[in-house]
Amino acid sequence: MRLQDKVVLITGAGSGIGKSTALLFAQEGATVIVNDLDEIKGKETVSEIKDKGGEALFLHADVTNPEHVKTMVEAAIAEFGRIDVLFNNAGISGVGAVHEIEPEAWDRIMSINVKGVFLPSKYVLPYMMERKAGSIINMSSCVAEIGLARRVSYAATKGAVLALTKSMQVDYAAYNIRVNALLPGTIFTPFVENYLKTSYDDPTAAIESLKQRQLSGEMGKSEDVAKAALFLASDDSKFMMGSPLYIDGGVVFG
Ligand code: NAD
Repeated sequence: MRLQDKVVLITGAGSGIGKSTALLFAQEGATVIVNDLDEIKGKETVSEIKDKGGEALFLHADVTNPEHVKTMVEAAIAEFGRIDVLFNNAGISGVGAVHEIEPEAWDRIMSINVKGVFLPSKYVLPYMMERKAGSIINMSSCVAEIGLARRVSYAATKGAVLALTKSMQVDYAAYNIRVNALLPGTIFTPFVENYLKTSYDDPTAAIESLKQRQLSGEMGKSEDVAKAALFLASDDSKFMMGSPLYIDGGVVFG
């Protein structure tokens, strides 16, 4: 059990990578605080964990709303006394070249994908600093580092998350808090399914093309990312600080 007695907060854990990670962390002994904007999906994750004998609690919050996030963190602390691991996972996709993107859509993706990492970190960190212990995992993406057609807003958010991760690490290393980032390639989740359906006339052809961009010839699974998150959450990664961890099947974007 690699997370025995750890209390973990995962944002956006009602679906995809967040959900797989919540299930895996619970299996590894963690008490999982499942956050999501979608109450039904978040509570489903909790039920699945409990059905398998694990410990979990759903806490609703929109990660872009300071009051929501503050209340969520205070509720978690009141219930469990601490948060050992924070996984800032919630995020949305965005499509378009710069001239195609509406300013409102730009603000929305920036808010969810970047402010949605800043706010949970802001409210959890004082508790981690007090205990001089903690691991924060921020969800970036390989598009932070590789140019990809018509994904500028999304890429900008994930680049920001990577930069945020590195500078956060410098500020909190003295408190024995590690801050690392996950950089997945294309992982087949509802997020990608929805992106393919809304962005391509022929989603099947788009799936094939996405598979070919990865040396593996396949898209990843949310469980692949969950295992990497487990490594960053556990003491096995104690010498990783401010690092990007790639889970991308050897991505070769043009
Ligand atoms: P998903 O859509 O399956 O899950 C995202 C979850 O976040 C959803 O349950 C959604 O309700 C929740 N969410 C959205 N906005 C929220 C908000 N404001 N407050 C709280 N919860 C909110 O997506 P996924 O594929 O599992 O992606 C999870 C993360 O991984 C995202 O940050 C995404 O950018 C990143 N990522 C995904 C891929 C991929 O290929 N799937 C690749 C790289 C990075």
